[in-house]
Amino acid sequence: MPQNGPGQVVVIGAGIIGACTAHALLDAGRQVTLVDPDRPGGAQAASYGNGGFLSPASSIPMSVPGLWRRVPGYLLDPSGPLTIRWRHLPRLAPWLIRFLRAGATQTRLHRTAGILAGLVGDGAARHMALAGSAGCPELIRQDGLIYAYETRAEFDDEAAFWQLRRYNGLRWRELSDEALWDFEPALRPLHRFAAVVDDGAHCTDPGAYVAALVGAAERRGARLVRARATGFTCSDGHLRAVRTNEGEQPCTAAVIAAGIDSADLAAQLGDAVPLVSERGYHVELPTGPGAPRRPVMPGRGKMANLPTRTGLRAAGQVELASTDAPPDWRRADILLDTLRRTYPDLTIDPSQVRRWYGHRPSTPDGLPVIGQATATPDVIHAFGHGHSGLVAAPITGAIVAALIGGTPPPLDPAPFAPARFR
Ligand SMILES: Cc1cc2nc3c(=O)[nH]c(=O)nc-3n(C[C@H](O)[C@H](O)[C@H](O)COP(=O)(O)OP(=O)(O)OC[C@H]3O[C@@H](n4cnc5c(N)ncnc54)[C@H](O)[C@@H]3O)c2cc1C
Repeated sequence: MPQNGPGQVVVIGAGIIGACTAHALLDAGRQVTLVDPDRPGGAQAASYGNGGFLSPASSIPMSVPGLWRRVPGYLLDPSGPLTIRWRHLPRLAPWLIRFLRAGATQTRLHRTAGILAGLVGDGAARHMALAGSAGCPELIRQDGLIYAYETRAEFDDEAAFWQLRRYNGLRWRELSDEALWDFEPALRPLHRFAAVVDDGAHCTDPGAYVAALVGAAERRGARLVRARATGFTCSDGHLRAVRTNEGEQPCTAAVIAAGIDSADLAAQLGDAVPLVSERGYHVELPTGPGAPRRPVMPGRGKMANLPTRTGLRAAGQVELASTDAPPDWRRADILLDTLRRTYPDLTIDPSQVRRWYGHRPSTPDGLPVIGQATATPDVIHAFGHGHSGLVAAPITGAIVAALIGGTPPPLDPAPFAPARFR
């Protein structure tokens, strides 16, 4: 087992980004220490509760032209897929303004979508390879991702987004009526049209997947330290150690992959990244007759419906509120209502429903922060993946390993540079 010390890379945070980064660093021959105060794969992390979609279609950012017109509605209507809590508006306003501006024009939308397409395009294939090498291939399945609509007209309303996806290389096939119901019987009779993305995949247990990846990293020689990173010890512009509540972890490089908690650490190194929580929820219930066998994203409700190892999960909702605000479980009830509407034959026993909420770490421009810290090139930021952190995790790890090793990254990291927020 390698000892901590010079040559060590400390990865702060053992969510999906930290876990995939650890593997990429091990592939590059680095000695790795993962630091996290909580259990990898635990419910504290967004990586536990997400929708499990590994979709090359996840290239359309949340902020799109005309969104600002709908903001008053989001403030007033607590039942839509996006809501903003009034009381938190003053604190959120600076982020919200940048967010709306980021998608205000078609040019900006096309730029962001092109960059995101590069980040998520081969995410499913990367995960399948990683899960195979980590000994948990059963946790990633490729059964087709179904984007289901009640009518063809509903799909046509979103045609501009699908065309943009096609422009960026996405392929899908279209199914309607009987052909769709043969493919996924649970969608009968309400949904009559779907785009099926066969190149995508899904994770059948996101929390267990993170735990399995971290376990596999440990078997490859990585160390897992249960501690909270609190800061950095640098001298002469170089990193000497990551400080934690359990003492220092000496190292020559570090990666900030602490999800929503990353901003405070990044700020210590001169990078004031505007990061807020797009809070999301999931409900999970025992699967049974009437439940989908494949992953579905119903056009109304925009939530991931996922057959997992532990039941049928519906994950979604965007709630803009402070990170520490208590959950509003009415948002989980909205997910349940959408399940009832989408799958009329599904029996839902409320006493059997498990509820979860968590934090999408989101930047206003919809792009993650991946790049060297301002104060020292020895610390690499790897956070802010918002809605697509699961699918984008392996390529993020590969970019980070390349930045640390001085080798060519798989994707130009310039658009992800923290300096864009200066
Ligand atoms: C409802 C919902 C649905 C989603 N659906 C999808 C989807 O279908 N597909 C997709 O690609 N993405 C999806 N996402 C987004 C995805 O889950 C996130 O982008 C991703 O999980 C972020 O991973 P992370 O590793 O950056 O953060 P996290 O998973 O939050 O992990 C951060 C880790 O850092 C640790 N940590 C925090 N502070 C410190 C510290 N100071 N020191 C050490 N460790 C620390 C935490 O304990 C945690 O384990 C969804 C998110 C939500 C909320």
